[in-house]
Amino acid sequence: MKILCVLYDDPTAGMPDSYPRDDLPILSGYPDGMSLPSPSSIDFTPGELLGCVSGELGLRKFLEDQGHTLVVTADKDGDGCIADRELVDADVVISQPFWPYYLTKEKIESAQNLKMAITAGIGSDHVDLQAAMDNKVDVVEVTYCNSRSVAEHIVMMILSLVRDYHNQHQIVKDGGWNIADAVQRSYDVEGMHVGTVAAGRIGLDALRKMKPFDVHLHYFDIHKLPDAVEAELNLTYHDSVESLVSVCDVVTINCPLHPKTEHLFDDEMINKMKRGAYIVNTARGKICDKDAIARALESGQLSGYAGDVWFPQPAPNDHLWRSMPNHGMTPHTSGTSLSAQARYAAGVREILECFFEGKPIREPYLIVQNGDLAGMGAHSYTRGTATDGSEEAAQYKK
Ligand code: NAD
Repeated sequence: MKILCVLYDDPTAGMPDSYPRDDLPILSGYPDGMSLPSPSSIDFTPGELLGCVSGELGLRKFLEDQGHTLVVTADKDGDGCIADRELVDADVVISQPFWPYYLTKEKIESAQNLKMAITAGIGSDHVDLQAAMDNKVDVVEVTYCNSRSVAEHIVMMILSLVRDYHNQHQIVKDGGWNIADAVQRSYDVEGMHVGTVAAGRIGLDALRKMKPFDVHLHYFDIHKLPDAVEAELNLTYHDSVESLVSVCDVVTINCPLHPKTEHLFDDEMINKMKRGAYIVNTARGKICDKDAIARALESGQLSGYAGDVWFPQPAPNDHLWRSMPNHGMTPHTSGTSLSAQARYAAGVREILECFFEGKPIREPYLIVQNGDLAGMGAHSYTRGTATDGSEEAAQYKK
C-alpha cells in the first residue's frame, strides 16, 4: 500500500544533534482510565522530533519492512504541490493539524484508492468530513494524545494574558524598566469568572487545572457533565454560549470546528461578552471571525486574545492576527510538544497496525467510518464541511 504522510518542515538549522532533556516522564494512562497508544512496538526515541519531515512519525522502518511505500512531504498547498500529486494513488493519508493537509472534496475525489485519512493529533476539520462520508473514506484521529498538552497551554495563555506577560517580557528585551508601563494592563486571575465553551477532554482538564487559582468556573457543552464532576469543581453550567460569555472574564474555546461552531465568535457574540474580557482559543482559528476579533481588540471590547490556532494554516504572512494589539498568539504548537509527538506517533502506528491486520480501530479514535460519523465523530462533530477557504494557505511564503 502507499502511505502519504504530510508533515511540517524540519528545523531551519536541520535536525538537532541533541535535545534539552534526556527522557520523558512515564505516564500510566489518561485520567478517565483510557490507555495510552499501544502499538506492538516503536522504532523511534520518545522525546525526539517526529512531526517534521525527517522525523517521519517514526514510521519508515515499520512500513517498509512490510512492503509498503511511504512518501513524506511538507509541500501541501497550491496547484501542483507534491502532496496533491502523490495523493492520486495513495491508500492512506496522514497529516497533522499543525500543518494540515486540507483534504477538500476535490482532493478526496481525485484519490480513487484512498481508504483512510489519519489525523496525527486531534481535530479532523481539515478533512471535508461530508466528502469523506460520501466517498467511504474513513477518518480517524489519536483521541486524547495531546488533550492535556493543550490544557497546559491554555493555563499558560490565560495567566499570560491577564497578567500581561508579553508586554512585560518585551520591556525587558528592549532594555527598559518602566514598571508603570509594565503593569497598567496587569491583573490577578484570582476571583475571576473563567468559562469554557465545551468541556470535553481539553475543556474539562483546563477547568481542573484552573481550579487551584481560586476562580469561579463555568461551562457550556452540548453534553452535560456528570453531577459529581460539576460538584467537584463547583461548576456553573450554562445552556447557551451567550449565557456563559455574559458573565465570564475569561472564555476559553475547546469545541471542535464543524459547521455549527464555524464563526461562533462573531461581532454579535463578542459584543455579548463583558467589556475587557479575554479569549483563549486553542481549538480552531475558524471558530472565531478573524476580523471581529481584531476589531474587538482595537476597541477594547476584548482586553486580550491568545491561542495557537489560525485559519488557514500556515497563516499567510500578513494575517491580521499577527499584528493586532494585545494578542498572545503562537504558531500551532500546543499539541505538538515533544511529549505529545511521542504519543501521537505511537497512536498512528497503532492505527496502522490495526488497519493492516484487519482488526478494529479503537472506537474513540473514529470520526468517520463506513460512510457515517462514528465514535468521537458522532459525539463531537456535525455533518458537513469546514474546509472552505483553505486554499489561502498557499499564500504563506517561507
Ligand atoms: P473531545 O471530543 O474530548 O471534546 C470535544 C467537546 O466539544 C465535546 O464535549 C463535545 O460535546 C463538545 N462540542 C461539540 N460541539 C459543540 C458545540 N457546538 N458547542 C459546545 N460544545 C460542543 O475533544 P478534545 O480532545 O477536548 O479536543 C477538542 C478540540 O480541540 C479538537 O476537536 C481540536 O479542534 C482542538 N485541539 C487543538 C489542539 C492544538 O494543538 N491546539 C490539539 C488537540 C485538539
